[in-house]
Amino acid sequence: MSILRDNRYIQNIWVSMALSAVLPIILGFSMANHFPEWRWTHYPFHSMVESVGAISAITIASLMIMMINKNHLPRYYIWAAIALIGMGILDGFHSILHAGTAFVWLHSTATLIGGVAFACIWLPARWLTPARERYLLPVIVMIAITLGLLSIALPQQLPVMVINGEFSLLAKFLNIAGGMGFLVGTAYFVHLYYLHKKNISRRNKVTSDMVFANHCLLFGIAGLLFESSMIWDAGWWWWHILRLAAYLIVLVYYFSLFAQQQDILRRNEITLLNTNKDLENRVKQRTLQLEKANNAKTKFLSSMSHELRTPMNAILGFSQLLNLDEDLNKDQKEQVTEILNAGTMLLHLIDEVLDVSRIEQGKIAVKFDNVNVSKLVKESCKLLEIQADKYGVSIVCDNSPEDIYINTDELRFKQVLVNLVSNGLKYNKPGGKVIINIEPANTTTRILIRDTGIGIAPEKMDALFQPFERLGHEGSTTEGVGIGLFHSKKLVEILGGKLSATSTYGEGSTFTLEFAAYPS
Ligand code: ADP
Repeated sequence: MSILRDNRYIQNIWVSMALSAVLPIILGFSMANHFPEWRWTHYPFHSMVESVGAISAITIASLMIMMINKNHLPRYYIWAAIALIGMGILDGFHSILHAGTAFVWLHSTATLIGGVAFACIWLPARWLTPARERYLLPVIVMIAITLGLLSIALPQQLPVMVINGEFSLLAKFLNIAGGMGFLVGTAYFVHLYYLHKKNISRRNKVTSDMVFANHCLLFGIAGLLFESSMIWDAGWWWWHILRLAAYLIVLVYYFSLFAQQQDILRRNEITLLNTNKDLENRVKQRTLQLEKANNAKTKFLSSMSHELRTPMNAILGFSQLLNLDEDLNKDQKEQVTEILNAGTMLLHLIDEVLDVSRIEQGKIAVKFDNVNVSKLVKESCKLLEIQADKYGVSIVCDNSPEDIYINTDELRFKQVLVNLVSNGLKYNKPGGKVIINIEPANTTTRILIRDTGIGIAPEKMDALFQPFERLGHEGSTTEGVGIGLFHSKKLVEILGGKLSATSTYGEGSTFTLEFAAYPS
């Protein structure tokens, strides 16, 4: 197989065509001259040669049609497929017959159909419209099968093909006409060979052109040699072998192409595997680096927060003492209150950062208990009343008489709830509302914190639970640093629950806490 691909002598079209033409012609004529009386009547061998040819033709045609449909072969190859399928079917019928009119008739019509179809390859590309292309194949298959069946069923209706052991004029005409058709096809492939050879990007097509040039040439010569042969004589067997060789050349070529494709596929698979491994390694390395960086960050935050907490507590303690001083005038009192407010906020922030770093280090301790959420919600509402008044927003607390329980850490749960309600107050409009509802169900209990506030733009929702994301409120008068929701989500996850949010920009948001129901 690789001979076809690699041998540069065979790759020269003229060397290969000389081998396919000169040798067969010389041998054909010398056989007819040297063994004029030699006859070998062997139906089984003939049937074998013809059926191998027929099967090869149909296999090659099917392969070609598949390749044409996948754009691996140019569309004009449809003519070669038509020729092969027509010949294959008629040769198949011919292979099962014994000598007689139908025997020679079927072979001759096979040659004529093949030759004419191969010659049609010269037709301009615009003639081969998709509609025509769709009908051509089924039509030729139908014609070949009908012709084959009718020829076998009605041999007496067929024209005379053999007269006194010699082929009739019609038989010779059909074969020579077919043979000429093949030679016309040969010329097309030689023409393509030179076109493709000149064009570097199409050089890989050169082998295919050459293979089909030789294929057609061998068929053409077989058609012409028919004229000088007699049934069962040496020349007759010789052109049979040439036809078989023509089929085998294309078959071998396609199998070599197939092997080549398999090879490429295998190499690509190996490259893909290596790339995958490489990628996996890189991902592992990056993950390790990220983990290291994250640990370093967590350590840094934790130690910094500790360091900040001590002086902060001192500042707050002394400010509280100062606030008790009766000698301070009104302005000084206001300034001390400012220090206290800002200090408390800062301490709260430090606590949150410290908590997040504890969560990330897996160092947070939680104590699960059977917690009455109804009671807890009411307590939180009370706690936030002053803040609600400050923003001019009212809190509508769940007031169902039934007590609902969940299994959680009371303190941590309250921390999350207060944070969500306080956000609902902060990001609201004067006169707005924050409504808290508990929705018990069979398997889950949901706590909904709904507000009629400013809402969140849809494109910002993805960043909602990210640390230090304020979604456009950076630098606004609304206090905050963007860690609350991130912290709350982490806490809820540790408590075995879920925190999610939906929002309509300009109308308000709903934050939903979801926990497994606990039997009350
Ligand atoms: P902070 O309130 O300190 O900025 P959070 O983590 O609590 O931090 O919230 C992050 C951001 O999410 C807020 O800055 C705000 O833009 C938005 N947000 C949170 N809750 C609401 C809400 N109820 N309505 C509208 N926006 C909200």
